[in-house]
Amino acid sequence: MRTLLILIFSVFVFSSNAQFKWPKGSKAAVVFTYDDGLDCHLDVAVPQLNKYGLRGTFFCTGNSPSLYNRTDEWRAITKQGHELGNHTLFHPCDGTGQDWVKPEYDLRTYTPEQIVAELKTANTLLKAIDGKTERTFGYTCSNYVAGGVDFTDLVKNIFMAARCDGPIPETMDGYEIWKTPSYMSADPDIKDLISLVEKAKNMGTIVVFMFHSVGGGYLNTAADVHEQLLQYVSDNRDDLYSDSFINVMKYIKENR
Ligand SMILES: [Zn+2]
Repeated sequence: MRTLLILIFSVFVFSSNAQFKWPKGSKAAVVFTYDDGLDCHLDVAVPQLNKYGLRGTFFCTGNSPSLYNRTDEWRAITKQGHELGNHTLFHPCDGTGQDWVKPEYDLRTYTPEQIVAELKTANTLLKAIDGKTERTFGYTCSNYVAGGVDFTDLVKNIFMAARCDGPIPETMDGYEIWKTPSYMSADPDIKDLISLVEKAKNMGTIVVFMFHSVGGGYLNTAADVHEQLLQYVSDNRDDLYSDSFINVMKYIKENR
C-alpha cells in the first residue's frame, strides 16, 4: 500500500513538473510581432527578419495608410512566410487616460456586436490581401472589454489565437492562446530584450515581443537594437524556436 502511494505521488509530481516540449529540443519560443501596419515594418523590420531567416507577425489595422499605399508589398511578405494579423479596422481602445482615443473609437462606448462586426470586416480585408482564412488577432491597446463586456469568448469564435500583454509565463501549464502575454518594446536596450529571451529559456516557456515603430517613430525600437535581437535569436537557433505567431500558437495547441 505504501509503495502504491509513493508511486501515485511520484507520477503526480512528475506530471505536474513535466516540461512543455518545444520542437527539436528547443528550450523556449520567441515570437516577433509588429503592430499598426507601418511603413517601417516593410522598410526596416522585414528586411532584417529576412536577413536572419526569421518570421514576423504584422498586426495591421484596416485603416493603415501603408496597407492602402503598399498593398502589393504587404501581400508579398506573406509569401515569404510572414503573417498578417487582425488589429481591427479603426484601432478602438479604452479611452481612459488616453487622450488620443477619439470618442467614436472608444471601446467604452462600443458594443460587443460592434467590435465583432469590425473584426470580421477586417478579416475580409486581410483575406483579400493574403487569401488566408485562418487568422490571429492582436487586441488593440491589449484591451478586451467593449461597452463593459469582456469579448474574449467572441474572439475565440473568429480567431485561432490572440495576443494580449503580460509577463513571461513561468509555465506553459494553462497557457491561454486567446490572451497570450507579450512584452511591449518602447526604446529598449538590447540587454533588456535579451534578458527576456533568457528568462523564457530558463523557464522553458515563450517570449512574444510587441513592436511598433522600428527605426524611428512612436513606441520605437532602434533599428540596430532590433537587428541585434534578431541576430541573438538566430545565433541561438538550437535553443530557441522562432516562427510566426500563428505557427507557434498552432504548435502549442497541438502539443500540450
Ligand atoms: Zn495598435
